[in-house]
Amino acid sequence: MAMLTRRDALQMVGVSAVAMAVAPMPTRAQAPVFPERAVIRTLFKDYAPEELAGGATLFHEHLSLGEDFGARFRAASQAVLAAQGITVPATGTAPPPAPPGPDPMRNVELMAQELRDAQHDGVACIVDASLEGAGMDLKFIRDAARMSGLPIIKGAGFYTQPFYPKAVATMSESQITEALIRQADEYPAGAFGEIGSWDDITALERRVFRAVGKAHLATNLPVFTHTGIPGKSALEQLDILEDAGVDPRRVAIGHLGNLVDSTLYVHKAICRRGAYVGFDRQGSARDAPVVPLVIALIEAGFADHILISGDAFRAYARPITVFVPKLKAAGADDATLHRITVDNPRRFLAFVPKRPRGSSA
Ligand SMILES: [Zn+2]
Repeated sequence: MAMLTRRDALQMVGVSAVAMAVAPMPTRAQAPVFPERAVIRTLFKDYAPEELAGGATLFHEHLSLGEDFGARFRAASQAVLAAQGITVPATGTAPPPAPPGPDPMRNVELMAQELRDAQHDGVACIVDASLEGAGMDLKFIRDAARMSGLPIIKGAGFYTQPFYPKAVATMSESQITEALIRQADEYPAGAFGEIGSWDDITALERRVFRAVGKAHLATNLPVFTHTGIPGKSALEQLDILEDAGVDPRRVAIGHLGNLVDSTLYVHKAICRRGAYVGFDRQGSARDAPVVPLVIALIEAGFADHILISGDAFRAYARPITVFVPKLKAAGADDATLHRITVDNPRRFLAFVPKRPRGSSA
């Protein structure tokens, strides 16, 4: 495949490489419509959704995880898959491998530089999906965000059972709900996520999902998830959230690039119910099986339900600089790619707050 220049990639997400800061956005026929008083809540500021139209928003990335996260994730994943009788596929079910070099998660200067690099490559905003219990360091994220100047949205919540803080196991559903609302106020958070399970959702994970549903009703924050393979949990997660009263249009079901099924049964079912489908581990050599899934969903009329991100620990612009050109080469047009990378994440993340910003601070 022909390499696209950075300028091509920027133009694809609707950013002029020549005059990113000064040129007004071209008027387009289908500019997204946001609810009145809707905001996108970053760590330091609530933005009007229109203010973040100058580039892509990546809805699922990681700026801070514990040094032991990778080992813990692999161990938990192997154990769950073995219990399901599934052999781990060669393509893996983990985030794409990071490029070589020192780990920016251990050096705030490096992390700030990663964020500035992403901004330079057309990224307007990043959502951090790292949670308490997985070694997330809020101060580190705040410092990196402040140093870089890139708007960062913090996710709140509890990740998956192997990563819950110990106390969660003894908490009632309403106590978990209260803890989630407290996190949302204190960070302050702009979303709940990544809220996860493997494919067999445990009883405790169900309790957390129900609590997330209730915390959503109290805050109006959008919710994004982590699923396992083969993918049964995707619809089940949406069921649990919807049963708790969540409008599916406020939910993104994640990691569905792992569900390589040419019938797209689960992907389409999620779109038909109004939710977003997350292709959120993109921008690496593992993209090949995911490209036809995204193209088929676009052709089926579900472009407005597609979200793209990297689930990355560094080099955050890759979904835009690496994956988007692959979609273009496979036939996706620029206007559709702009909708997917710039408009959809803002539609997903924009919400009308039910609580004042930082009310418990
Ligand atoms: Zn993730």
